Parts: sequence; structure tokens; C-alpha cells
Amino acid sequence: MMCRYCNHPIAESRGPSARYCSPAHRRKAQRQRNIESGHLTVAELSVLSMHSAGLTKPEIAQELGISAHTVREHADNARAKLGASTIAHAVAICYQHGLFRTYLAA
Ligand SMILES: [Zn+2]
Repeated sequence: MMCRYCNHPIAESRGPSARYCSPAHRRKAQRQRNIESGHLTVAELSVLSMHSAGLTKPEIAQELGISAHTVREHADNARAKLGASTIAHAVAICYQHGLFRTYLAA
């Protein structure tokens, strides 16, 4: 079997059903798919964008008319979809891939 991300052989120790050579490549492939499919919702991108502008959770909640709990959920969902380790990492990925520009253009 070849890794679906890098096309290198997958070690047998990864198990017979492994499709990627490493967890990192599984996450990278997932991130790529999510980005390509525009998998993040506008709410998720809005929350990340406002975090990147320095707004706090309560400020974002007030601005969007949602609870601080929901703000956290949106941020956490976006982080997971992007395969990011932190919210700051998720924001960085959005910048790297131009997601704020693409999806939040006024
Ligand atoms: Zn790989």
C-alpha cells in the first residue's frame, strides 16, 4: 500500500487498513480535503477571523449575537476540520490558504 498523501510505501506495522504512512499525513490529507471542499462554515471562518483581529470570545459573541459557548464551539470545530493543534494554528492555516479572503470577502 502507498500513502495517499505522499505516495510512499506504508510500513506494515501501521496495519493492513492504513491509508497513510503517518498520522501527520492523515491530518494533512484531511486538511487539504476540507480546504478544497470549502468545508468550513462562514460562522467558523468569522470566529477565526475575529480571533485573528484580537477580539476576545465575549466580544465575538456580542458581535455575532451568539453565546460565548457557541463561539468556542465554532473555533474548536474549525480547528479540528483544519487538523490544527491550536486556534492560533487554525488562524495561521486560514491565512496561508487565503481562506479569509476567499470566504469572507465583503
Ligand atoms: Zn505519507
